[in-house]
Amino acid sequence: MKVSIIGAGVSGLSLGCYLQMNGFKTAIYEKHSLPGGLCASWKKGGYTFDGCLHWVLGSDNGSPFYKLWSELLDMKSIEFVNHEERLAVELKENGNKYGDKVFRLYTNTDRLEAYLLDLAPEDSRMIWKLIRLIRTIQKFEMPPMIENISKLQTLRRKMEMITYFPFLIQFLKWRHVTNYSFASRLKNPFLKEAFELLFDGDEVNLLVMTMPLAFYDQKSAGYPVGGSAKFAKRIADKYELLGGKIHYNKGVKKINVENSVAKGVLFDDGTSVYSDMTISAADWNFTVFKALEGKYINKKILELAALKKLEVYPSVMLISLGVGRSFNEFAHFFRFPIKNEYLSPDGTAYNQIEVHIYNYDKSIAPEGKTVIAMSFYTRNGEFWINMRQKDIEEYNICKTSFANTMIDILDEKMGGVKEFIEEMDVATPATYNRYTGNWKGSAQGWFPGKNLVAASPVAITLPGLKNFYYTSHWSIPGGGLPSVLKSAHDLAQRICLKNNIKFKIEGRL
Ligand SMILES: Cc1cc2nc3c(=O)[nH]c(=O)nc-3n(C[C@H](O)[C@H](O)[C@H](O)COP(=O)(O)OP(=O)(O)OC[C@H]3O[C@@H](n4cnc5c(N)ncnc54)[C@H](O)[C@@H]3O)c2cc1C
Repeated sequence: MKVSIIGAGVSGLSLGCYLQMNGFKTAIYEKHSLPGGLCASWKKGGYTFDGCLHWVLGSDNGSPFYKLWSELLDMKSIEFVNHEERLAVELKENGNKYGDKVFRLYTNTDRLEAYLLDLAPEDSRMIWKLIRLIRTIQKFEMPPMIENISKLQTLRRKMEMITYFPFLIQFLKWRHVTNYSFASRLKNPFLKEAFELLFDGDEVNLLVMTMPLAFYDQKSAGYPVGGSAKFAKRIADKYELLGGKIHYNKGVKKINVENSVAKGVLFDDGTSVYSDMTISAADWNFTVFKALEGKYINKKILELAALKKLEVYPSVMLISLGVGRSFNEFAHFFRFPIKNEYLSPDGTAYNQIEVHIYNYDKSIAPEGKTVIAMSFYTRNGEFWINMRQKDIEEYNICKTSFANTMIDILDEKMGGVKEFIEEMDVATPATYNRYTGNWKGSAQGWFPGKNLVAASPVAITLPGLKNFYYTSHWSIPGGGLPSVLKSAHDLAQRICLKNNIKFKIEGRL
């Protein structure tokens, strides 16, 4: 059966691998010249700037996700870096020097517990509750259903779910708790502020923090040395090894439909290809409203598109610097407040700066030198997208001015940055949108926000359309590589089931 897949992001590549393993003849059509989509890094001078990964769930070989990744790539050959601290947040009432009033989110659960109790003994009850949640998640990690959709689970596997009862209880207890609501129950002002600032001033379900923390402690959420593009390329290589073909620079304009049956795709260059099954692993909004012209929708889809159910995950202004010295004295990931609020041209007010210092990956900078990246999340990605379309000169002036302001602030804070800058790159939401087509330049699809359990708002099919499927990071709020891997894996199982094929994994590494 001939299958066309739109998009060579990690979703399209993973799905392509699974379908190739199960006898489908697939081809991936990618508008860019490279695989990976958002999972990207690029070279400038002797530096590699990374636009994506800081951690990959499943980096430890005891984890179920490790087994899942191993279906597609040789995990043993990847070096992962596990950090002692997830994040260092400098609070508002700080001195000017880096390091004053810093809250440290340690990855080792015992150390975190001791640290929190030492900081705020008056909040011991709340701290123990939080630590108990992290330990419960650790004990159960991921439900056993990870390797199979429920229709393929054996009765024994289904019965095992009973042992997950304590996890379920904790999950139900915490499902509406956000960093803000947790902070409001704390007495200690330092800890209160630290929890409010955990997500750069946003209110987010606390499970978004506790889940990775559980995995960090188990060394199962490491950073892959070499960066994002290298990681994605491994899946692209596996796909081609399995006989799949990736057609680069082949943007899809429309999905061809005859009598409500998807019949392949029409490309930007005017050519078409026929397929028995058409799958989009590209942006959700593009797929539903452009490639299919909004003809296969229902009330739920319209509500999603009108942003009535979920918000779009913010986009990013990413300033990457290649700096000719080392910064070993700094945390690898920290946030610090800025003295005077900065109002971005897109209307976002920034009160703090998020900094990544990649001194732990020696492969991405010449010896003794460092890649530093500053990220600024924005909910108005469209401002940059529209500006670039209308007036590219003004856009360049605007983004350079933004970057220069932030570099000045960083230089004042850390010292010795500006004068050592050798390479610089500024990616805006327009960059993310241009290279990957993500709606509003979204970094991770839908924003989970307070409502973590608003899972899977996007179905794998569309109403009234046959022989068509959809999968991407828009399928699960919060996106991220583990979600896209699991979604692609599940979709492949469903497609096999529908076609009476016994799902199999070929060439597990
Ligand atoms: C700054 C940042 C940091 C992140 N950090 C992490 C992290 O630490 N850990 C983690 O797990 N996740 C992280 N993520 C999220 C993760 O990168 C994404 O959720 C994931 O890569 C999405 O994969 P995808 O294949 O679903 O979508 P995409 O990567 O968007 O892939 C879609 C592909 O479709 C192609 N395409 C689009 N339109 C067309 C068309 N018309 N024709 C042909 N091709 C088309 C695109 O070019 C692209 O290659 C981060 C993302 C960002 C932006």
